[in-house]
Amino acid sequence: MIQHRSRATTLASLLVLLVLAVLSVLAVLPPTPVAADAPADEFSADRAFEHVEVIGAEVHPHGTPAADRVREYIVDELDAMGLDPEVTEGTGLTGRLGGRAQAAGVQNVVATVEGTDSTGPIFLMAHYDSAEVSHGANDDGAGVSTLLESARAILAADAPRNDLVLVFTDAEEACLCGAEAFADSDPRAADGGIVLNFEARGSSGPAVMFETSPGNADLVAQYATVPYPVGSSLAVEVYRILPNDTDFSPFLDAGGFTGLNAAYIDGSAAYHAPQDQPETMNLASLQHHGSNTLALARALGDADAAALATPSAHDSTYFPLPGGVLAQYPGWLVWPLAVLALVAVGALGFTTARRTETGPGRLALGFGAALLPIVLTAVGAQLFWMLLVAIRPGYGEMLDPWHPWGFRIALLGLVAVIVTGWFVLLRRRLGAPALTFGALGWLAVLGVVLAAFTPGGSYLAALPALAGAVAGVVALLLTDSRGRTAAVAVGAAVAIVVLVPVVVLFFPALGLATGAAPALFAALLGLALVPVLADALPLARRAGGVLVGACGAVAVVALGAGFALDGFTAEKPEPTQLMYAMDADTGEAMWVSGEGSPSPWTSQFVDEQTEISEDFPAVHGEVWTGPAEAADLPAPTAEIVADETSGDERTLTLTVFPERTVRYVEAVAENVTAATIEGREVAVADGHLDISYAAPGDEGFELVVTVPAGEAFDVRLLGGGEGLESLPGFEPRPETVGVKGSHTSELVLVATSQTF
Ligand SMILES: [Zn+2]
Repeated sequence: MIQHRSRATTLASLLVLLVLAVLSVLAVLPPTPVAADAPADEFSADRAFEHVEVIGAEVHPHGTPAADRVREYIVDELDAMGLDPEVTEGTGLTGRLGGRAQAAGVQNVVATVEGTDSTGPIFLMAHYDSAEVSHGANDDGAGVSTLLESARAILAADAPRNDLVLVFTDAEEACLCGAEAFADSDPRAADGGIVLNFEARGSSGPAVMFETSPGNADLVAQYATVPYPVGSSLAVEVYRILPNDTDFSPFLDAGGFTGLNAAYIDGSAAYHAPQDQPETMNLASLQHHGSNTLALARALGDADAAALATPSAHDSTYFPLPGGVLAQYPGWLVWPLAVLALVAVGALGFTTARRTETGPGRLALGFGAALLPIVLTAVGAQLFWMLLVAIRPGYGEMLDPWHPWGFRIALLGLVAVIVTGWFVLLRRRLGAPALTFGALGWLAVLGVVLAAFTPGGSYLAALPALAGAVAGVVALLLTDSRGRTAAVAVGAAVAIVVLVPVVVLFFPALGLATGAAPALFAALLGLALVPVLADALPLARRAGGVLVGACGAVAVVALGAGFALDGFTAEKPEPTQLMYAMDADTGEAMWVSGEGSPSPWTSQFVDEQTEISEDFPAVHGEVWTGPAEAADLPAPTAEIVADETSGDERTLTLTVFPERTVRYVEAVAENVTAATIEGREVAVADGHLDISYAAPGDEGFELVVTVPAGEAFDVRLLGGGEGLESLPGFEPRPETVGVKGSHTSELVLVATSQTF
């Protein structure tokens, strides 16, 4: 009877944990789209999607007639709402990307929803330009349509207290230049304020609040009031490490601003690619973006904006919980919790040694053994991706396959095989108490390491370790087996609630190409669940075998499903990357590809790996190249407007003409002591000038350089433009071969050297 009851308790606790895991997944999934006939003061994805269909109708990079049309559409829509939109012109200049200074003439659209008694501006921002080969329906039609629909809903209700300034930026993809120009010189931004930026790096998934300004506690508390908060303080830390940038960055660089940055990031195969079209957009993701944006705009619209525009004394630790709740606690608690977890695991070891036959020696062995599944998971996840690329080489150019879910589940199955296999094999030798101690011990150690290096991520290891260890001590002190099972379940529940969302969010964030990261968090979850395994898994060898076998079966079936679901098709093609580079002075030309290992289609153009950055500074590192016919394309030219020597300085004023329609003109020179582009000063380090100007018109742009008196100015000029498909020798792509979503895809470079 007791046996029976305790088995029922075990089953009940497993069921509760399973339900909790499902709820934790649901907590980070986007909500159902709201229909177009919803009340006027609500955000409707169906209504917002009407904007997406216009914005994403054609490829519209900065400086193109298509971008002009999108801008005019935004102006018309704002006009129709009764706002008074303004198109502001200026020159943006950023130096964030690889040491090259990048400038662009920009036209931002700005409109203000006037507050009743404003305490400071809230800037709501999204960019209206697309990437070079992309329709930009998601990136950033999602952000633009979210702002338009939110503004409409706000105007349908009582006016907010604070001014809400809508900023639709230009040239984000080129150089973040619209945002930079606004932060640098728009009078509305002169006194700083709160910036909310809205992006999409893919076509689906939850809208994640992934970046904050430093000292984020007060703003995170505001964000916690939105209906579907999805964000983790770990993401903020990870994003600070990654080289990615959005329009948010120039505001952080400028200083005086606080803010939040949100994007949906799954479905990254469409990111910057020709497939980023309205039909690929997941409306649930748009609804998620919109529901949260509208709620946040209303909350901040009525808050004390002046106080929130000042950084808080600390960063928050925060993460999503089931039921639309955002857990948050102040950053100063990170270290005490990490240390407490370590102490609790120590107490667990002590109690284990006192209460069981497991002595200190065996506990130490358990600790050493628990490193095994962590290492095996990291190695296994990387091998898993190599296997996928070996079977389908096109994945090598992707962050994630078009349909990654089968592969994600397969990888989770592999992690489960590793953790359960490790437990089943070592349980007989070392005993479950030693393995439990080892597993929780590594979580506690990791909690301390993370507290030192990425404090926002410490909770992921420290909280499960703390809860698991306390539960373990309680279980050891209890004599009733049902009580022990319940205690262990409570400890495991904390681990599930904390770790499941981050596993779900990390897959799209880093992609299967870097699947080791989510896999490692899954392995940590597995380790935190070791006490449950120890409690629930019968000792019989067969039971262990069945469990490991079941995990393996899930992995194999999911892998098969992944491949079956994800063949390359005309709609979801294999991405390829091809460029063309010609030296106009010598007439020598070549095909260039940045692919790691050229696809069959790309291989007909390129055959050797070389470095060409000396002649074509825009192309960094080793690339694949092959001979090409010279094309009848002009290089950019510079003409002297003024040449003055005063003292030991010679200052040249040049106009640089693109001579054809280009994405940008780049100018590279040595021996330069100072430079300005369109009147903006460019940083020159060690005499090296490297500057690009995005989409100059026929009238060109002004470049002023200073060199030592009596010396020549030698400049390398490159024009990077379109027209790859009409070059001599180009072979059209087969139906299932597509264009990779990158800023250099289909780029046609023509270079020349000039001396003045
Ligand atoms: Zn974008």
